[in-house]
Amino acid sequence: MSQRFKQNIDEVNGRIADAAAKAGRSASDVTLVGVTKYVDAEVTREFAQAGHRVLGENRPQQMWQKQEALTDLDLQWHLIGHLQRNKAKRMVELAVLIHSVDSLRLLKAIDGFAAEQGKVAKVLLEVNVSGESAKHGFSPGELPAIVEAAADFNAVQVDGLMAMAGLAGDHVDARREFALLRSLAETTAASGLPGNVKMQDLSMGMSGDFEIAIEEGATLVRVGSALFK
Ligand SMILES: *Cc1c(COP(=O)(O)O)cnc(C)c1O
Repeated sequence: MSQRFKQNIDEVNGRIADAAAKAGRSASDVTLVGVTKYVDAEVTREFAQAGHRVLGENRPQQMWQKQEALTDLDLQWHLIGHLQRNKAKRMVELAVLIHSVDSLRLLKAIDGFAAEQGKVAKVLLEVNVSGESAKHGFSPGELPAIVEAAADFNAVQVDGLMAMAGLAGDHVDARREFALLRSLAETTAASGLPGNVKMQDLSMGMSGDFEIAIEEGATLVRVGSALFK
């Protein structure tokens, strides 16, 4: 079992290195978030012990359950899915990065809990780059106002943006959507950022399209099925 995970991790890391090389980037600038949502805590343990400790969950409760079962392991948890405000407190305690901030109210709630906990919560702003109505995230046009508003939240650090390619699209669409996310980060940064906003990180790319995302500038790729096959 864990031999299989070692192989999968090596294979995905190899593909990340190839995609980075093709784009003239360093593989060390790309963080692999291993998405454990398809498996239970015990399989997650085997996966972590096979060598990968940076993990992502899209459901808060599943993250908590796994985290509780695996407290003996030194894991870094990333939240990649929708967060409700009533779960934000515990998420701020646990997650090293919340990729999926999709409303100003949520950002404000995260800020409040982080301030209470005496920490600075690291987040990304999710952007709906495909325009699909089922997708969470800010529209590109909303971003400047959100960035401006973020200046008031001292206990939050916005590291960058996150997106998912549209479900209906192909690789050409995905590339265009990833390029859009990068250009949104660049244009937002060019118009001046508050001190707690850095448009450095781009979380984009999943099993089916992470190489394209890396070519378009991803610094975090969220990969599940290619690691748990
Ligand atoms: C499930 C999920 C992933 C990983 O998807 P795979 O195609 O299995 O790699 C990435 N990002 C989010 C937000 C997800 O929910």
